[in-house]
Amino acid sequence: MNVADSELVGGILNSRGYTFTGELSDADVVLLNTCAIRDNAEQRIRGRLGLINAQKRTRPHLVIGVLGCMAERLREQFIEEERLVDLIVGPDEYRKLPALLDGAFGGEKGIAVRLSRVETYDDIEPLRTEGISAWLSVMRGCDKFCTFCVVPFTRGRERSRSFDSIVDEVRMLADKGFREVTLLGQNVNSYRDGGHDFAALMKAVAAVDRTMRIRFTTSHPQDMSDALIDAIASTDNICKYIHLPVQSGSDRILALMNRTYTASQYLHLVEKIRNTIPGVSLSTDIISGFPTETAEEHRKTMDLMREVRYDGAYTFMYSARERTKAWEMGDSVAEEEKSARVTEIVELQRGISTELNQRLIGTVEAVLVEGPSKKSDAEFMGRTDTNKTVIVPKGDLREGDLVDCRIERANAATLFGEPVRADKHTEGEAA
Ligand code: SAH
Ligand code: SF4
Repeated sequence: MNVADSELVGGILNSRGYTFTGELSDADVVLLNTCAIRDNAEQRIRGRLGLINAQKRTRPHLVIGVLGCMAERLREQFIEEERLVDLIVGPDEYRKLPALLDGAFGGEKGIAVRLSRVETYDDIEPLRTEGISAWLSVMRGCDKFCTFCVVPFTRGRERSRSFDSIVDEVRMLADKGFREVTLLGQNVNSYRDGGHDFAALMKAVAAVDRTMRIRFTTSHPQDMSDALIDAIASTDNICKYIHLPVQSGSDRILALMNRTYTASQYLHLVEKIRNTIPGVSLSTDIISGFPTETAEEHRKTMDLMREVRYDGAYTFMYSARERTKAWEMGDSVAEEEKSARVTEIVELQRGISTELNQRLIGTVEAVLVEGPSKKSDAEFMGRTDTNKTVIVPKGDLREGDLVDCRIERANAATLFGEPVRADKHTEGEAA
């Protein structure tokens, strides 16, 4: 979401003549787009701000700004009390950036942190810097008010972009040669524009170019409609991968979290998804150490994980956030206990992921080649339809190729493949 928002800011500033520089020492403006979801995300930004501020000693005209959720959360504190930055701009105020920058070059401090009920940046083309896989925000904000979560306070009320503008943007991305689009929203499946729900949007977007992969994130279990499950099942180029955060396996904790489902309702949903979409891959988010979570309730989360057998899981230590309901519940689970629970969950998941991935050895998977592998110049990284990372030898492959690969090896995080047939499609031909 933040990468997509940064591209949006890039689009707004690029149209006013600003360009990116890879070197901090060349920059006239440094904008940090920030996350406030957990305290450690904020601490990292504070560390980074310290380093960037050091540059101001030799270059007093450098303009430093903080964008995004942390700007929304801390507001004046950054400018007035801590004097760390020149600009503070919340997620719904990016249109004001050019004017605020003009002011900042004249020595003014600028704050814009109003949340909007309507801003979707519908008409702004993000400045995308990579050409294979595109992020596309289709809705902003969140109305769910999970009791642990700061998002409704930092990103505001839920609102959807217009159906037509999204379909048009996907068409433009296809024309530019993008091979994959991920529709984004905090609660992407509660998308609605007039008579169009998220299932209708997915179908329309997938119909733009049948050779383009369509993904989405993040979906809330409550809004996982039958129509959406059917759309995923029946549309070849909608990827068979769903990130479906459960957060906890204990009904008492789920109720305290205001997640609106019980563990057994969630399990039924998973069953329905698996019956309708054979081979679907599932991942989740889990919070460990929510206020008052007992060892027994932690075990229930592990039981649920064993039952679902997720392909992947992101596990977080609970971080108390001001203004949320859970903030008032106190932060009762000791940090060491949270950390021990996270470790258990991560180990359990590593075992499950390894088993599931190793089952794929010998099978052939269609891999979209996305870019260089981090570890070796001789290899590319790509992903399967089910969102698993695959490392393949470069050979004569090019970024953007969709290539069938036989899986030779696998660990918890990565598959290693060999192309069985080079991508024969020439430009312009259907894949
Ligand atoms: N809208 C998405 C999640 C956005 S935040 C959804 O509801 O699924 C991403 C993840 O961060 C959440 O799923 C949750 O697991 C985690 N998270 C959010 N607030 C948190 C907090 N206060 N402490 C720890 N983890 C948190
Ligand atoms: Fe936060 Fe819950 Fe909204 Fe996700 S659904 S963004 S966890 S309030």
